[in-house]
Amino acid sequence: MTTSAQKPRQLWEAVLGELQLQVSRPSYKTWLKDTVGLSHGDGEFVVLTPNTFVAEMLEQRMYSVISKAMAKVVDGGVEVRFQTVAEGSLAVGQTEAGTGPQRVRRDTQEDAQAIDHAVPARANGHAGRRPAAAGLNARYTFGHFVVGNSNELAQAAALAVAERPGFTYNPLFIYSGVGLGKTHLLHAIGHLVLSRGLSLIYATTEEFTNEFIKAIREGKTEGFRNRYRSADVLLLDDIQFIIGKEQTQEGFFHTFNALHMAGRQIVITSDRPATDLTLLEDRIQSRLAGGLVVDIQAPDLETKLAILAAKAEETGQSLPNDVLDFLAGRIHSNIRELEGCLNRLAAYAQITARTITLDLVKGAVADILRPASRRRLSDTVVLETVCAYYSVDKETILGRLRDKHTALARQVAMYLLREESNLPLASIGRLLGGRDHSTVLHACRRISGRIGADTHLRSDLANIRETLSSP
Ligand code: ADP
Ligand code: MG
Repeated sequence: MTTSAQKPRQLWEAVLGELQLQVSRPSYKTWLKDTVGLSHGDGEFVVLTPNTFVAEMLEQRMYSVISKAMAKVVDGGVEVRFQTVAEGSLAVGQTEAGTGPQRVRRDTQEDAQAIDHAVPARANGHAGRRPAAAGLNARYTFGHFVVGNSNELAQAAALAVAERPGFTYNPLFIYSGVGLGKTHLLHAIGHLVLSRGLSLIYATTEEFTNEFIKAIREGKTEGFRNRYRSADVLLLDDIQFIIGKEQTQEGFFHTFNALHMAGRQIVITSDRPATDLTLLEDRIQSRLAGGLVVDIQAPDLETKLAILAAKAEETGQSLPNDVLDFLAGRIHSNIRELEGCLNRLAAYAQITARTITLDLVKGAVADILRPASRRRLSDTVVLETVCAYYSVDKETILGRLRDKHTALARQVAMYLLREESNLPLASIGRLLGGRDHSTVLHACRRISGRIGADTHLRSDLANIRETLSSP
C-alpha cells in the first residue's frame, strides 16, 4: 500500500497486477496492457491510454473493476481518469498547463477529436450521424468484442482500418462461418468511425441491392450514386448475397471504384472466402483480392470461456466457473449459440428462482441448452474426415511415422477431436494409437498457437470443419 504522489507509474503497475487477476487475459491484453500511470494527487489518479478508444472502453466498461483494484492499492481509493495524448505533445510523467486530464465520454465527440490527430475529419453532410441512425447495433463495439487466437487478425485489421480509414487496408474483406463476429466487427468499425465525425454508410448487401433496384425503377440512380459515393467509409455486410445478381454487381462495381479511387475505406464481409464467390464477376474478385483478406475461425475453448465470462458480466449474471466451463465445452464454434445458451440459462434461473449450479445445468437444464441444430460430432467422423482431407491412412495417423505431413494431420486430428468432439485429452490419446495425454495437449497447443499466423493451417481447419458440418 502506498499513498505517495511521486510514483504514479509503479502504483499503476500494482493496480495492473491486481487487474490481471480480475479480468480475462484477452481483455487485459487489449485494454490494459499498454496503459501507464501518469500522475497522482488531489484524490485523482490519471492513467495514460494509447488512444481515445481505449480510454472510452476503460471508462465505460471497466471503470468499476478498475476502481476496486485501485482501492486495494491506494488507501481509501481515488478517482481514476483516463487521458489520451497525441503523440509527442506530452511526455509521460508530466502534465502541462491547459492539457489537464480529460474525461472521455461518448457524447463529447469534439473532445475525442480534439485530442486525436490520427484521422483528419472530412467535412461533409453526413458527419455526426448517430450510430443508431446509421443502423449500428449499440452493443457491437470493439469494447464488447473478445479477442482470441481465432479472431485476433480480423480484429486487429478492423481496428487498424477504423483508426485510419482509407490508409491501411483497402478494401478489407472479412470472412467466416456464421455467428463468428463479422457483423459485430463491421459495426465496431462503424462506431469508431462515427465517433470521429466521419461519414459512414452501413448496409447489408440485401439493402444495397434493394436500394439499387428501386433507384433504377424510379429513375433515381443519380441520387443512389451520390449517396453511396459521398461516404468516407462504406461497410457492406454479407456480400455473398450479390452472387448471381448481375445488375447489382455492376452497380456495386462502380460504387466500389468511385470510393476506392477517392481513397475512401471499404469493408466487406462474406460467409465464404472471396475465391469461393465464383459467381462474382472477375473484376470484382480481383478488386477484393487487392486489399486485405482476413478470416475468423471458430473460437477455441479459451476464447469461448472469455466470451462467456464477458457476456455473463454484461448481463449481470454471476455463473460459477464450472458452469462456464461446461457451456464452453458444449457449444461448438458458433458464438451466437453460445449467447443463446447463456440467455436461456438466465431466463431459466429467473423463472424458477433457482441458483445456477453445475448439477442443475447438467441435469434439469441440459435439454434447454442443447442447441437444436448442432450434433456432437463422433470421434470416428472427425478422425476419418481429417484422414481424408490430408490423404493419410488411418493406420498411418495412428502409427509412429513422424514425417511433417503425417505429424500435421495427426496434430490437427487431435486438435479437432478436442474442439469438435470435446473428448478428454487421455481419450484422444488412446484413440490416436495410444499416445499419452501430454502429447495430445502439446499438439492442441501447437495448433491453436499457429492458427493466428498460419493461413494454410487456417484454411485446412476451415475446410475440414466445413466438411464436418455439412449434412
Ligand atoms: P456473423 O456476422 O459472423 O454471422 P455476428 O457478428 O452476428 O456473426 O456474431 C454473432 C453473435 O456473437 C453476436 O451477438 C456477436 O456480438 C457475438 N460475437 C461474435 N464474436 C464475438 C466476440 N469475439 N466477442 C464477443 N461477442 C462476439
Ligand atoms: Mg453477419
